[in-house]
Amino acid sequence: MKDIDGRAVAKALREEVAAAAERLREGGTVPTLAVVVPTDDEGTAWYVRSIAKTAGKLGLDCRVVQLEEPGRDEIVAKLQELSADPEVHGVICQTPLPEGVSLAEVGWYISPFKDVDGANSESLGRLAQGRRTFAPATSAAVLELLRHEGVRLEGARAVVVGRSTVVGKPAALLLVNESATVTVCHSRTKELAAVCREADVLVAAVGRPRMIGAEFVKPGAVVIDVGTNPTPDGGLVGDVDYEAVAPLASAITPVPGGVGPVTTMLLLRNTVEAARLALEHP
Ligand code: NDP
Repeated sequence: MKDIDGRAVAKALREEVAAAAERLREGGTVPTLAVVVPTDDEGTAWYVRSIAKTAGKLGLDCRVVQLEEPGRDEIVAKLQELSADPEVHGVICQTPLPEGVSLAEVGWYISPFKDVDGANSESLGRLAQGRRTFAPATSAAVLELLRHEGVRLEGARAVVVGRSTVVGKPAALLLVNESATVTVCHSRTKELAAVCREADVLVAAVGRPRMIGAEFVKPGAVVIDVGTNPTPDGGLVGDVDYEAVAPLASAITPVPGGVGPVTTMLLLRNTVEAARLALEHP
């Protein structure tokens, strides 16, 4: 079994992003990401600080826009304002959102040209059509890790556990676009373990700590664990029971240190790409 080192993949991306940001800065453009934070959530605040810190180190600007108890209309207005701001190249809206507000709905108000975390349904539609677009960064991180490991996807059997719009569905679309044969599972899937055992590539995006045990994994499968479940001692645990699954898998992402670091880096790479495209097609 081999650990797939997300931090090493992120490091390689880091150099690529920093170099691209530097080229833009030399031409007078500071690639800028705006992060709208609509709720007062400790986990979100930590994540946003980490994005801003990494952005700064790589030569990007990160504008954190904290909204105090906003309703749907305030969130939409802010996303529209940032989408129209020529100095902003990427816009993301952090979850959780206030009750009754969904990312699928407010994401529509992020310009598709600045939609660096694929929240606009137009971005998801383009993904479904196999066209060029910004995919949600977490799902793109799954593919980036598989690519980095040289996993052959064409004709491979892939099973994605989870059908959320931000992770499971876009990951499945990205895998289909790479010519994998994809099954998407969810809470109503019958005989889940047996379905998962068919996978050459198993992606867990469930949000249930250590749910995927040895009985879900075919020997030699590649396992990507998207889960980030907080533990009582302040740590993180994945959706996969790492100790049980690692001896079976040919390669597996640890948590932490797998999908997470790559996700942040792809968000920043998308922002730099959006800035570059804005210059090319003003
Ligand atoms: P959601 O809660 O939106 O979706 C969870 C999915 O898992 C749903 O489709 C649900 O099915 C399915 N599910 C729940 N219980 C079961 C079960 N017992 N058996 C089979 N399927 C089940 O979560 P997200 O997609 O937003 O996130 C998934 C995980 O990824 C979480 O741990 C989250 O923290 C993590 N995450 C990590 C990121 C990163 O950068 N590393 C970024 C974003 C998320 P149904 O649709 O039927 O309810």
